[in-house]
Amino acid sequence: VRALTKWVSLSRIKYPWTQMAGHQGSFLAGSTGTILKLLVTKENDNLPLLMAEPQLGHHVPKYHGAVEKDGTSYVQLQDLLCKFTSPCVMDIKMGVRTYLEEELEKARKKPTLRKDLYQKMISVDATAPTEEEQQQEAVTKPRYMRFRDDMSSTSSLGFRIEGIKTNAGSSKDYKDTRSRESVCTALRGFIGDTESVLPKYISALSEIAEALQSSNFFKTNEMIGTSLLFVHDRTGKAGVWLIDFAKCTALPDGVSIDHRSTWVEGNYEDGYLFGLDNLISIFQELHDG
Ligand code: ATP
Ligand code: MG
Ligand code: MG
Repeated sequence: VRALTKWVSLSRIKYPWTQMAGHQGSFLAGSTGTILKLLVTKENDNLPLLMAEPQLGHHVPKYHGAVEKDGTSYVQLQDLLCKFTSPCVMDIKMGVRTYLEEELEKARKKPTLRKDLYQKMISVDATAPTEEEQQQEAVTKPRYMRFRDDMSSTSSLGFRIEGIKTNAGSSKDYKDTRSRESVCTALRGFIGDTESVLPKYISALSEIAEALQSSNFFKTNEMIGTSLLFVHDRTGKAGVWLIDFAKCTALPDGVSIDHRSTWVEGNYEDGYLFGLDNLISIFQELHDG
């Protein structure tokens, strides 16, 4: 599967813009240096909170508010690619799971069987469905998402690669990239011979880890479905940003999590810091050779 590249106009100059996840049609070019992402209420609420955080704010694309275009609402965001020259881009989805506690609860109370997700499941692994699922030829959404989490490195490492674009090409074909070794290989491909970006990525990730510690948003939210976007170019310029807050959900009153402990249903842990630790350690390993 090739990632979608479209042309975004930056002032009068046109440059290619790459989207490593999400649906085609969710993004439009915005005014100079910005992009428009289809508005989701939760994300539109979360972005200003994140941007206002003293430390974490620097690691989140600038939010320029909601805008309407041809009757559709979008959030206007800083385009993280626009200062790079032919950027290499990687989207890493963080956490040990990609569905909310409330999605599990809903699915249990009122299970909606999805034939389309059953088909997606067997196209990856024909042996995955249980006998019951085979008879129904359908699965629930959380069941499908858990399957995706277990097939990839999400459950075991606390993050997964969603997509990578380098100057050699682009791929979103990481559904079964699960072992530490195969993740290392993919990351090595992403870095290529621009090794000078490795220490920059390591310090950017450490800065983010530090910023998260003092973030009120991080303290009070189930960080689900959110990514780190890695961008570098041949000049050695590199940066990492937190993106995609459409699913991040405030924890119920009285619930607190450390983002590191093992998740068991009902404890709300998301494994974000567990994943970040693993990611830093893998980048360190690549750097040390
Ligand atoms: P999904 O939920 O399936 O991950 P989504 O519709 O919520 O998708 P995002 O994950 O926010 O969309 O973004 C999809 C892709 O678009 C990212 O992987 C990245 O390549 C690109 N992208 C998103 N936000 C920005 C930004 N501010 N600047 C540059 N690129 C971005
Ligand atoms: Mg995303
Ligand atoms: Mg999303």
